Amino acid sequence: MATLLDGKSVAAALREELRAETAPLAEMLGRKPALATVQVGEDEASTVYASRIAKTLAGLGMECRTLQLPATATRDELQDLLRTIGDDPSTDGILPFLPLPDPHTFEDVVAALNPGKDVDGIHPENAGRLYLGQETFVPNTPAGGMEILRRYDLPLRGRRAVVVGRSNIVGKPMALLLLAEHATVTLCHSRTENLPAVCREADLLVAAVGRARMIRGDWVKPGAVIIDFGINPTETGIAGDVDFESVESVAAAITPVPGGTGPVTNLMLARNVLKAAKSRL
Ligand code: NDP
Repeated sequence: MATLLDGKSVAAALREELRAETAPLAEMLGRKPALATVQVGEDEASTVYASRIAKTLAGLGMECRTLQLPATATRDELQDLLRTIGDDPSTDGILPFLPLPDPHTFEDVVAALNPGKDVDGIHPENAGRLYLGQETFVPNTPAGGMEILRRYDLPLRGRRAVVVGRSNIVGKPMALLLLAEHATVTLCHSRTENLPAVCREADLLVAAVGRARMIRGDWVKPGAVIIDFGINPTETGIAGDVDFESVESVAAAITPVPGGTGPVTNLMLARNVLKAAKSRL
């Protein structure tokens, strides 16, 4: 049976560490480190996500301002808001919820987003720095996956890593982070031929697909480590991209869903808010 890579216990340890860092930083700043989330319209998933983030940050002694524009907001209105908080010295981090409703575009957002406050690393400047192996704001979800691997002391150097999913916010940055740790990385996507065979070569298999239980036990090399980023609502609850039942008897270690990568993501966001706040001292 695979070892469970328990995101909840990693999150609990991180919470303690971040809380201990936040208090002295708040003292030096003369205010709490602060994040502004920006939502356009009423998307329910974003509203739930915003309240979870606010709760996480409050528990760490940080401030979270939940900003919301109506779905009818113009492109100029959204850009004005982003520029205002980008210039506001009491806001350290900015998290715009994506994707945005029409007529807003990703390009509009990044054109008005201060890269020094881009705590989910979506701005091309930060994504470019990650590509170049420079210090940057790493996107929170893959940062959380790397944190779990690090805390469980799982070796990456020279290992064969396969990442399934190439989104700019999860799969692609995860591949770059693994490469930076000297893994030999293959990045797969919807056009990859013979995906099960490619997955079977992996010492570390990372799933960031958005398809419930797609990766099955017979896709997995015995003894592989599995990081499952999938969060897929199903009739029986939230499921990962990995079929836990058939994979757990083959893999050496696996993140469960829920309770694996999910609990760590918001703490990576909080860590980036602290990093942004420190840069303002
Ligand atoms: P996207 O939809 O942006 O990307 C999905 C990727 O999977 C694409 O690259 C796509 O390929 C690839 N893909 C889709 N179908 C297949 C297939 N049949 N075979 C191989 N590859 C396929 O999703 P995200 O990256 O945003 O999210 C991925 C998962 O992670 C989702 O379940 C999401 O809910 C979850 N997530 C989890 C978070 C966490 O904190 N744990 C946070 C954010 C997301 P192509 O590029 O060719 O279309």
